[in-house]
Amino acid sequence: MEKDLKFAILKSSKEIPNKIENWIFEAYEKNKKIFGRTPSKKFKIVICNAEKEWKEESKYYYFSFGAGTVLRDGTFVAKEQKFLKRSDKNYKILLDHEMNHVFFALFYGITKPTWIHEGLANFVGGCPLPKKETLKEIKTKKINHKILQYRYLYRNYPNKETVRLNYSIWGYFIEFVSDNNSRVIISFMNDFIKRPNKANYNKMFLKYFGENPKSKFQSFVKWLNK
Ligand SMILES: [Zn+2]
Repeated sequence: MEKDLKFAILKSSKEIPNKIENWIFEAYEKNKKIFGRTPSKKFKIVICNAEKEWKEESKYYYFSFGAGTVLRDGTFVAKEQKFLKRSDKNYKILLDHEMNHVFFALFYGITKPTWIHEGLANFVGGCPLPKKETLKEIKTKKINHKILQYRYLYRNYPNKETVRLNYSIWGYFIEFVSDNNSRVIISFMNDFIKRPNKANYNKMFLKYFGENPKSKFQSFVKWLNK
C-alpha cells in the first residue's frame, strides 16, 4: 500500500492499521513543536513487515537488532509493531524517536555531534533506561565526557545494551543541559550548523551550556545522583 499523508508518503507491503497512522501524525506534531517548524520536503515513511524488507530499506544503516532508522535523505524506515512485538507505548516511542531524526536530518543533515542527534531523539521519545540505572552503569563502566565526543553517527554498536546505555546517557544529558527545554538545543543547532566544525562546536558548547564538555559531564553525573 501507498498513502499520501500530505507531509509524507507512507509505504508498506501490508495495510497499516489506523492507530499506527494516527501515531505517525502525533509524532509529526510532537516534533513540529520541538523544532518550531516543519520540513519543506515531503519525505517517505517505509514500514517493514519482515527482516528482508528491513534489510533492504535500512540500507547502510542496517543492523539486525535495529527497530527503525532514518536515511540521509530523511526517509523514515521502521519495523511494523506486530513484527517488533512491541507494546503500544513502546511503539509510539519508536515513532516519536525516528520522526525526530527525520526533522533533524532534513534541517541539519546527518551531522556531528552524535550525542545531540541521538540524545534529542531519546529526549523526545523517552530514554530506554531509568536515570538510576544509567548512573549505575556510568560508574561501573567508568564512562566519562568522551561519550560526548564530536563525531559522526556510527552504527557499529557491539550489542543492544551499549545502544540502550549510550542513548540513555545522551537523552538525559540533553534534559540536563537544556534544563528540560529542548528550544535551547534547537538554538544551539541553528547556530552551530552555520559553521559545523569542531572549533565552532566548542565555542557553541561554552556559549549554550556554560562549561566545557568535561566539567559539564561531571555536573551531569552529580545531577543524575540527586
Ligand atoms: Zn535514533
